[in-house]
Parts: sequence; C-alpha cells; structure tokens
Amino acid sequence: MIEIFELKGRKIWVAGGTGMVGSAIIRNLSKEECLIIAPQRDELDLLDQLSVNQFLKINKPDIVIIAAATVGGILANSTRPAEFIYENITIANNIIHGAHINEINRLLFLGSACIYPREADQPMTEEALLQGKLEPTNEWYAIAKIAGIKMCQAYRKQYGRNYISAQPNNLYGTHDNFDVNSGHVIPALMHRAHLAKVNLEHELSVWGTGSVFREFLHVDDCADALIHLLKFYNEKIPINIGTGEEITIKNLALKICDVLDFKGKLIFDDSKPDGSPRKLLNSERIKKLGWKSKINLEKGLKETYEWYKLNIVPKQIS
Ligand code: GDP
Repeated sequence: MIEIFELKGRKIWVAGGTGMVGSAIIRNLSKEECLIIAPQRDELDLLDQLSVNQFLKINKPDIVIIAAATVGGILANSTRPAEFIYENITIANNIIHGAHINEINRLLFLGSACIYPREADQPMTEEALLQGKLEPTNEWYAIAKIAGIKMCQAYRKQYGRNYISAQPNNLYGTHDNFDVNSGHVIPALMHRAHLAKVNLEHELSVWGTGSVFREFLHVDDCADALIHLLKFYNEKIPINIGTGEEITIKNLALKICDVLDFKGKLIFDDSKPDGSPRKLLNSERIKKLGWKSKINLEKGLKETYEWYKLNIVPKQIS
C-alpha cells in the first residue's frame, strides 16, 4: 500500500505561483484545505539567494513546489541560452538549498520532457535520463532542469530529504505566453491564427516542416498530477507526466484552425527549427500510482481559446 502524504493543514509555498503552472497548482490546491503562500515577482527575487533564504526562514513552509522557471518556445530557447541556463539553475539552486537549510523536508521540483536525449527510444522512460546527447535547441534549459533534478536526488541521498521531481510534457492552457515569437507552439499558433482570421487573411504560417511529433498536456492536468505526486510519491526517480497521445505539428495546426474556424491554408516555414523529431513520454510509472490525464486535446484547445478571447484579445485592443 502507498503511504499518503497529507496536505491538509500544511503551509505550501508555490514558487512561480503567478505563472502558468503555478497558478494552475494554486487553483488545484484550493480543494486541499492547506495554506498557500505565493509572493509575486516584485515581492521576492528568486535569483537572489539571500532573499530566498530570508523568505524561507520567516515563512517556514512545510512544503515547497518549484513551478518557477524562465521558459519559452523553441526560438526563445535557442536565442537566449544564457538567460535560460543561468536563471533556471539559480532558481533551482537557491530554492532547493534554501529549503534544506531551513529544515523543509518536502519539496517538488518541476522538470521538463526536454531533459531526455534527442535520440531516446520512444516512448521515453525515466531511465533514459543522461543516456545520450540532448536536443540542441533546448539543451540550455534541459541542463538547468537536469541540475535541479540531480539536486533533489543529492539532498535526498546525503540528508534524507523527501525531495521529488517530475517532468510534464509540452504544456499548454490558460495563462500561457501567447507571444508569437517567444511562446510555445500552441499559444503562438493560436494567436497567429486568430490575427489571420480577424484580418481576413488566407494563410497561416507554421514554423518548421510540421512533420515532427509532440505530446501536449493541459496545465490543469499537470497541476492535478503534481498534487497527486505530492501525496503519493516519494522516490528519487524523476517521474514522467504525459497523456500518452502524440500528434504532428501539422495536425495540431489543423486542429487549432478548426477550433478557431479559420479556413486559411497552412504555409510551412522551414527556415525555423523543427527541434526534436519526437518527444513522447512513457507515463506508466505515474499511472501505476493511480493518476491519468483527463483533458483531451480538443477540449483543452477549445478552453484555451475561450480564455485567450476573454483575457488576451482585450489587452491587444487597448
Ligand atoms: P519544443 O517542444 O521545445 O520544440 O517547443 P515548441 O512548442 O516551441 O515547438 C514545438 C514544435 O512546433 C517545433 O517543431 C516548432 O518548430 C513548431 N512550431 C510551429 N509553429 C510554431 C510557432 O509559431 N511557435 C513555436 N514556438 N513553435 C512552432
């Protein structure tokens, strides 16, 4: 039988609580009768170790969830390597070490599916970590995430801390970054298709060849999985979170056009990188713990577009 780690009555710091994943975690935690703390970016600088230590010393959370990260799509990742590696390593370093010296025994670090080698066997099991070369378009981010995972393992090994890591596959959903240059494929394409539709254009530009595969996970599914892991998982192995379904970028673009009712033609821009050819996670381990994805891509895309129309479109006009 799996032992349950109670969340009721616990004080939980969601680092990155104003971001896409952090805000989804906070929505999900509202069912758990716990106390959530989530300072804004201007209240706590996660890149400043002294401030992080001070914050932990004063607030003494029982649990820390690290959902804070510098993130971006394939272009942002490959053009801002220094920011991606420095900021993500520093966030992991400051929070994980800070949690340890403040005697916090439970921590969940959010990794990413890009930690796995580009040529890993598909679907990728947790054992594929560090078995080959990374995908060059996001190796900076991947190295920082691997460092965070290894820190959790190191503090577990040396000090017996119950620190765990989990890697969701490509996330999408509400509170995403819809910028066409720095965003990931779903928000960027949704935004571009929306603009094409309202401007009565007949074409939609899609980066790369459109032939590569991705597995997409709705951010609310991700949050649900993370809370499940906090309750039921306490092993050193960083655990995969995916849906088990993959789709080509071309078919994804067609689905987005369907949701928006945009009838234009897809134009593939192969001057832009494709990135990994395939990135499907093996999520058997989390399934065995009793969790599975509940939001399918069609439903998730529709909900995301509704949120975009309510929250992003008005800001563009003003
Ligand atoms: P990745 O999984 O790290 O490659 O994350 P992305 O979400 O940035 O890209 C996924 C795939 O979608 C890549 O093959 C991109 O070339 C492709 N893609 C197609 N159009 C776009 C776009 O407008 N923005 C982004 N970011 N990717 C796009």
